[in-house]
Amino acid sequence: MWVSTHVLAGLAIAAALGGPWWLVLPIVVLAHVVMDLIPHWDYTVSKHPVVYGCCDFAASLTAWLLAWFALGMPFWMAFMGPVSGAPDWDVLIATIRGAQARKFFPSHWDSFPHGRSGRAWGIGVQVVIMAASVGVVLAARPY
Ligand SMILES: [Zn+2]
Repeated sequence: MWVSTHVLAGLAIAAALGGPWWLVLPIVVLAHVVMDLIPHWDYTVSKHPVVYGCCDFAASLTAWLLAWFALGMPFWMAFMGPVSGAPDWDVLIATIRGAQARKFFPSHWDSFPHGRSGRAWGIGVQVVIMAASVGVVLAARPY
């Protein structure tokens, strides 16, 4: 899934659980794996992966900073957003290294049943996850 989808889901999980950070951290990383099982559309298969990737990174950074500064999330809680999205550095590094590059995160391995779908469902499901995550983050206030 997109990094921004993972970041928002990580923020929502952290906001909903409320801590402790050492328990939330493995849960948001595990959520990355579970989310990659859901059939979705990745822009890595599109004609403009760099453009989409830059937008995705900017959206992810914005979500994190908004949660931290605008919503006043504690640092550790806001940091669970980037932690949930961080495994996708694996995809970026492997893409730069070339088609044969090995990926290290389990849900990115070729043997993993990574969920794939067409654009309509694959984008729609991520928009629903993002909207639900924003709802959870807002509903959980104050943190
Ligand atoms: Zn991933």
